[in-house]
Amino acid sequence: MPTRLIFMGPPGSGKGTQAARLMDSAGLVQLSSGQVMRDEIKAGSAIGKKVAQYVESGGLVPDELITGVILAAVEKVGDRGLILDGFPRTAPQAESLAAGMTARGWKIDAVLDFQMPDEVIIERIGGRRVCSDCGATYNTEFLPPKVEGVCDACGGKVIQRKDDLPDVVRNRLETYRAQTAPLVQYYSERGLLHNIDASRHADEVQVTVRRIVDGLGAA
Ligand code: AMP
Repeated sequence: MPTRLIFMGPPGSGKGTQAARLMDSAGLVQLSSGQVMRDEIKAGSAIGKKVAQYVESGGLVPDELITGVILAAVEKVGDRGLILDGFPRTAPQAESLAAGMTARGWKIDAVLDFQMPDEVIIERIGGRRVCSDCGATYNTEFLPPKVEGVCDACGGKVIQRKDDLPDVVRNRLETYRAQTAPLVQYYSERGLLHNIDASRHADEVQVTVRRIVDGLGAA
């Protein structure tokens, strides 16, 4: 059975970085809902046009716009292992995901909750940079690209996301605490939740993540 994981945590908690590392080392497919949204916006698709205002202001894209797109992407991953990075973010999304999984005879094996205090997030997000082509993440202080402004992975341009600017980050954090943090209880009640202290160095967090995944018999 392929392993299917959910990575939860506030913006800037390092869940995307850890998902990318685990993808490389354990052969899982990382599906980042934020990246899917950014790709749709960049492509100028019909869905991209509808979601742009929400993404740019740091609010959540309405459930009915995002859920179908992400479930279709999950379906496409098929029988390979999966890391859902940034989805679900609301209770209705979690319910839709559970229904979609059950319908295919699939299940979520574990939910990893990346915990980090707001002060640390605001500091780290200020230094976050992303590749505008492949979405790889960097940090000016902790994880700079080898050549400034150039993506190590694909040579694309490394930029600061508009929604990583301080006012938008505050909005995203409020949204997270109000709408997404309650999902912790939802998954805890289902016996799936693993808490992770994400304020440590990325290498240490990676060891913890790997230990949890190995404990599931994934790799
Ligand atoms: P992220 O890269 O995960 O921080 O996502 C960037 C933006 O995409 C968020 O601020 C939301 O506007 C949108 N987004 C990503 N995932 C979701 C989701 N599961 N539900 C609603 N909006 C989302």
